[in-house]
Amino acid sequence: MQPDIHPVQLALQAWPAIWLFDLLRYLVPAALVAAALAVLPARWRSRRSVQEHAPAAGQRRREFLNSMLTVLVFSANGALIFAGAGAGILCLYTDIAERGWAYAAVSLIVLVLAHDTWFYWTHRLLHQRWLFRRSHLTHHRSVAPTPWAAYSFAPIEALVQAAFLTLILLVLPLHPMVIFIFLTHMIVRNVLGHAGVDLVPRAWLAGWWGRWLTTTLHHDLHHSQGRLNYGLYFTWWDRIGGTEHPEYALRLQQFVESLHGQFPRSQIAANQASGIG
Ligand SMILES: [Zn+2]
Ligand SMILES: [Zn+2]
Repeated sequence: MQPDIHPVQLALQAWPAIWLFDLLRYLVPAALVAAALAVLPARWRSRRSVQEHAPAAGQRRREFLNSMLTVLVFSANGALIFAGAGAGILCLYTDIAERGWAYAAVSLIVLVLAHDTWFYWTHRLLHQRWLFRRSHLTHHRSVAPTPWAAYSFAPIEALVQAAFLTLILLVLPLHPMVIFIFLTHMIVRNVLGHAGVDLVPRAWLAGWWGRWLTTTLHHDLHHSQGRLNYGLYFTWWDRIGGTEHPEYALRLQQFVESLHGQFPRSQIAANQASGIG
């Protein structure tokens, strides 16, 4: 940081670069997954599709334009973080040796777990009748979402999502590299969740991924039915909160079986033991 420049001035100078970073962070994964879906053989794609309906006409354009607004909100928040760190309010450190690699790894895990918790509970809150129309309806206009829906939020929802990083930096010191990995994981999982076609290998879906991590089917059910399955990365908050779609485990099992072979017996037993089978 340059000590002779006011933090606000520093933030304004950094904003264009942060905006470009946030833009590419959305554009690259969304375009790559959209391109993959466009070039994959139609039969393969339809076998792996988890959607009952096709995306509506003009939907991709709307999702993209909403996402551009979200990129603007996210980058403004990024500039705010820059100013907060410059003013010594937010705990951002730049020398990895200051806290070591073990701390960086643990802080990344804490960050992902904390964000999953933040997302689940704020998502449930945004679904409250008094908030839904003005905050979360924009995202749910995509009944059959596409990869471009990853950032398709109303500005209020974009602010709620952006606030997480600012708030956690008040208490958890983070290195920019940790934040970069966290943001990359976030957008990749987000784009895959909205792809409408599950691109994850069958063996993963049949194992721990399908059991503990949210799948495309998981979030697609949220969009098609407008409720339940509020989780972002992991399935446990929906199980703890009693909001997992009652047919999710069965639908996932049927989906995996339809891809090839049978669902592993150990997985069925594990599902039954935890009451989700
Ligand atoms: Zn929702
Ligand atoms: Zn969504």
